[in-house]
Amino acid sequence: MSFDRFGRHIHYLRISLTDHCNLRCRYCMPEDMTFRPNAEMLQDDELLLLVRLFASLGFDKLRLTGGEPTVRAQIVPLVQAITATPGIRAVSMTTNGVLLGKLAQPLKAAGLQRVNISLDTLNPQRFRQLTRWGSFDQVWEGILAAERAGLTPLKLNAVVVRGYNEADTADLAGLTLEHPWQVRFIEMMPFAGETDTQLNHVVRAEEIMARIEAVHGPLQPENDGQLDGEARIFRLRGAAGQVGFISSVSAPFCAACTRARLTADGKLRLCLLREKEVDLLTPLRAGAGIDELRQLILDGVWHKPWGHGLAQGEVALNRTMSEIGG
Ligand code: SAM
Repeated sequence: MSFDRFGRHIHYLRISLTDHCNLRCRYCMPEDMTFRPNAEMLQDDELLLLVRLFASLGFDKLRLTGGEPTVRAQIVPLVQAITATPGIRAVSMTTNGVLLGKLAQPLKAAGLQRVNISLDTLNPQRFRQLTRWGSFDQVWEGILAAERAGLTPLKLNAVVVRGYNEADTADLAGLTLEHPWQVRFIEMMPFAGETDTQLNHVVRAEEIMARIEAVHGPLQPENDGQLDGEARIFRLRGAAGQVGFISSVSAPFCAACTRARLTADGKLRLCLLREKEVDLLTPLRAGAGIDELRQLILDGVWHKPWGHGLAQGEVALNRTMSEIGG
């Protein structure tokens, strides 16, 4: 079992399958982003060995992310091998949905349980503007394909960026009136790459809630006000789905964090917003034994930072969000 020194049980691993992406969201990475060479990335056999190791340490819940996880070569057999790992009980994916039109069904058949799909606006022009070249129609088709394939309950993630899409939040929340989806609004966080945009265009959850309530009426708290993962959950009156708020900036949820992250280049990152990482790939390639790797993971987890330091102006600048895995 993996516990940190604060007594938190760390059993949820977010695995970045690649730093590559087929979109270039303005708040996520620069248009001319340079990607790491493939030789520096975890290969399938290395990744699967680490997944088995994490599972043996009690990690039972995985989320596959990136970059864009669906652009990884051989994604379907890889997901199949990951979901078949003994001890892993839940595997989900965060994706931009671009390739789900063709991949949703095969991914479901490979054992993937559900997906979170990023969608920041329902306005096709603004979608293109935010993603630099993405097609809203393609992503919408991907969302419907995911639902048809049973990759449910479906969650849609919207990062709200001042000057781009804050006016679209009520329309996005309105999707829940008819669809049994959870639409979650994420406060933008600062990383490397687009740091100025990320620091200066944040829209806080309270403002987003007010915008939604002005159009749709009161948001009723669900779950007795308890967090669902990292999100505070609400429902509009008579709605089929839910509205969530992930307020990492204005209301951090570090005390309840159960996560660690494995980057595509094989680093164990203990907090999304702290630079601290433990290199697993170098020792793995140097011939480290299973016990040595296991101890590296346990020590890393033990020293997981308590929480982020955004309130103190501390920003982790060693990677972009896409290089960590959202
Ligand atoms: N490509 C996939 C996708 O689009 O969902 C997975 C990776 S992406 C980095 C994961 C999530 O992080 C997306 O919902 C994205 O919008 C969000 N994201 C990217 N940059 C962010 C930032 N600076 N603050 C908060 N969320 C961010």
